[in-house]
Amino acid sequence: MELVVDPLILRQRLSEIRRQGKSIGFVPTMGFLHEGHLSLIRAAKEQNDFVVVSIFVNPLQFGQNEDYEDYPRDLENDSRLAEAAGCDLIFSPEAQVFYPPGYATFVEVEGSISEGLCGAARPGHFRGVTTVLAKLFNLVSPDNTYFGQKDAQQCLVVKKMLQDLNYAINLHIMPTVREADGVAMSSRNKYLNPGQRAVAPVLYQSLQQAEALIRAGERDAAALKAAMRSRISAVPETVVDYIEIVDTQMLRPLERLTGSCLLALAVRLGGTRLIDNIIVNVEGQ
Ligand code: AMP
Repeated sequence: MELVVDPLILRQRLSEIRRQGKSIGFVPTMGFLHEGHLSLIRAAKEQNDFVVVSIFVNPLQFGQNEDYEDYPRDLENDSRLAEAAGCDLIFSPEAQVFYPPGYATFVEVEGSISEGLCGAARPGHFRGVTTVLAKLFNLVSPDNTYFGQKDAQQCLVVKKMLQDLNYAINLHIMPTVREADGVAMSSRNKYLNPGQRAVAPVLYQSLQQAEALIRAGERDAAALKAAMRSRISAVPETVVDYIEIVDTQMLRPLERLTGSCLLALAVRLGGTRLIDNIIVNVEGQ
């Protein structure tokens, strides 16, 4: 497996790969890899001749008071894990090289897809995500790219960007990988102390409880959100950032559930912001 830090060398290397007629699968990440990331790399390996993984903690997608400096980093261990999962090349540029002084170009998806949920809670976040991805997609020019359903809103924002900017890249959205107790795997889980980790399953449990209520006939979004909120708020150290039920196309809030519904939440546990979601298909009334 190769490690490349220079964007120009990446371009050269990948044009050789393309000249050999090989397909390229691409998995963008911020590193500190876990099974969620590895599931994307394995899927890329199955469907492509050559797999590129980027490991880059993107300063543009962090707010001023967020955890950019503290975000966990371990390139050595990541390299080992990525290679075992089938990665052929890791691209891990320095931030000052990727965004040199005077950098001034940004990509932004406007409208309800990027403005609600995490977009409302983290202004500028998705602009940072789409900007880094536009650059990475231009450099890697993959046939296929792989994202996790855990970041449901990010998936839709990326899908829209790919459409609107005429990228010829197939987007594959892979299921959320969870720990045995239901907690969605995340690099940020490392921040949780043992007490916080022990109660973290409440996020997924509240989503499952809402799904059970929907299956039993509940269609009122306010009632479902209240049930989720009361379950989560009963746990010490939790602060709900948002609990929303939206349609899965435009992410517009629903009053009554119908069709394909995304139940999404962000909760702070101690100082750590965790997100999770499920999609529930609601038939009839
Ligand atoms: P990140 O390093 O957090 O930016 O994530 C990189 C990619 O891995 C994104 O497409 C995420 O959605 C995906 N990912 C993160 N956690 C999980 C998970 N638990 N299950 C599946 N995919 C995940």
